[in-house]
Amino acid sequence: MKKHVVLYKKLSAPLMARLHEAAQVTLIENLGPTGLAQLRDALPSAHGLLGASLRLDANLLDLAPQLEAVASVSVGVDNYDIDYLTQRGILLSNTPDVLTETTADTGFALILATARRVVELANMVRAGNWNQNIGPLHFGSDVHGKTLGIIGMGRIGEALAQRGHFGFGMPVIYHSHSPKPAVDQRFDAQYRSLPDLLQQADFVCLTLPLTAETQGLIGAKEFALMGPETIFINISRGKVVDEAALVEALQQRTIRAAGLDVFEREPLNHDSPLLRLSNVVATPHIGSATHETREAMAKCAVDNLLAALAGERPKNLVNTSAWKR
Ligand code: NAP
Repeated sequence: MKKHVVLYKKLSAPLMARLHEAAQVTLIENLGPTGLAQLRDALPSAHGLLGASLRLDANLLDLAPQLEAVASVSVGVDNYDIDYLTQRGILLSNTPDVLTETTADTGFALILATARRVVELANMVRAGNWNQNIGPLHFGSDVHGKTLGIIGMGRIGEALAQRGHFGFGMPVIYHSHSPKPAVDQRFDAQYRSLPDLLQQADFVCLTLPLTAETQGLIGAKEFALMGPETIFINISRGKVVDEAALVEALQQRTIRAAGLDVFEREPLNHDSPLLRLSNVVATPHIGSATHETREAMAKCAVDNLLAALAGERPKNLVNTSAWKR
């Protein structure tokens, strides 16, 4: 008998066809109240789950006694109770690599947009307020040649360093758990302690995962170490940052600007003070959101799920200790 797969993310027709061939499929089109009720109904018979942006905790997982595998359509796995999945022997997979370059592109889009005030000034033109040649009041700051500070020198961090070093002639400094000689050599980069990086970088970019260790990593103390010209970019996860402290730093202009793709709560509340600040560029979590990359991520997740359900080790297994075969 075919195994039962529950999708809480719609896939392209070719990927749906592949899944239908291999499994009995339940598709939950959206995760509103009706969708969540459908999910709860489907979980008792589910062998596999595939989707993203849903907190899968022990309460939900307990509704799925037959669950063998969860395929996340994301590289970040902060939405999953990994310890509980591992304890239950459920294989969790993610989609690294295929989204690295696109997410780094998003990071650079935010770097350029904040430094050159692209959104603010484009809105001025659109509003019909470009009435004379612009002057210093509307000038931005250079990107090329400025110091790029990367916190979390992993796949996306490296892709950002590549753009900064080779494309914009930026000196690269970074902070990770430990120095990375190959990165130092490739990008002429230098490892820094977190306080040193915050003091020395013109652009402070977050590219690390949300974990118990990184939650709230950047707060008032860290913003105080940045200078009035520092531009802060977050393409990792909102909860790595104390958002109230960020708002304070932006309002007081103790930092120059922020480019933010991720937020403490998503979707971002319409009343957020961040949206009243002209020195903020906010995007709706679009790090990997291109047609090509989202399709590649979905294919990767389907490959991982079907491998796991066939008793094979998925290529992108996250909780490796759950693999006992
Ligand atoms: P990765 O290759 O695992 O890199 C993460 C890096 O963060 C690692 O190199 C690690 O350093 C570093 N790190 C972890 N904890 C740290 C800590 N406490 N202090 C300093 N450095 C720490 O992951 P990735 O593929 O680059 O993805 C990174 C994250 O980006 C994901 O987890 C996800 O949350 C986020 N993301 C967001 C979007 C978006 O749409 N905005 C898209 C894709 C990914 P070591 O190597 O030294 O351990």
